[in-house]
Amino acid sequence: AEEVGGGDKEVVKEYFNNDGFQRWRRIYGETDDVNKVQLDIRVGHSKTVENVMKMLTDEGSLKGVTVCDAGCGTGSLSIPLAKEGALVTASDISAAMVAEAEKKAREELLKGKDELSPGLVMPKFEVSDLESLSGKYDTVVCLDVLIHYPQSKADAMIAHLASLAENRLILSFAPKTFYYSLLKRIGELFPGPSKATRAYLHAEADVERALQKVGWRIRKRGLTTTQFYFANLVEAVRA
Ligand code: SAM
Repeated sequence: AEEVGGGDKEVVKEYFNNDGFQRWRRIYGETDDVNKVQLDIRVGHSKTVENVMKMLTDEGSLKGVTVCDAGCGTGSLSIPLAKEGALVTASDISAAMVAEAEKKAREELLKGKDELSPGLVMPKFEVSDLESLSGKYDTVVCLDVLIHYPQSKADAMIAHLASLAENRLILSFAPKTFYYSLLKRIGELFPGPSKATRAYLHAEADVERALQKVGWRIRKRGLTTTQFYFANLVEAVRA
């Protein structure tokens, strides 16, 4: 059934504080306790992170640029952004994810030292659903979170993120293409032990329309595919 009220969001939050946290922490980590599918997703996801870093750094240095990483997970993007000198505000609905991201950021940015290298700033971590975020950032990024939103809620979510961004909004989402829809159907027919929460795919045209409605246009597009990971990437700017 389509979710009613905030039902879906509570389920997502509960999942990413428990089973989902354990599963995704491994996928987004470096240890070898992952199966073949999870390893494939790890590789795909890291390509998305690389593509985003390229999109952002191609436009100039990130030193001192404010970035909101909405739905930051374990900090896969926040940490490389901070390494480039960006002023990162990283948030996630899951307290477990935020704690893990904070721990990893300390490890990777401090590397056992007491102080950060000059010009680098530790990301500011917060537990927050993205609907509650406020403020203004040069750039807002939201990677692989739209999968938790049905299209009926995605428009409002995109509009809210755009309202926080002064210059750029970067979104990634699982594309609604025939092949991937089919794969998802197969996944639903044969749910494995680590079956995820409900996944929603999005057509690029729907995301584009949602952006256009609030006065934004897509400037760059990207696509990452591995065997089990698919992500469309869009960078939007004010039209
Ligand atoms: N963006 C991270 C990355 O690419 O590494 C994490 C992606 S992970 C698949 C999805 C994340 O979105 C989870 O950490 C989950 O807790 C978070 N999330 C889901 N719904 C959210 C919401 N409404 N507000 C904030 N975070 C949310």
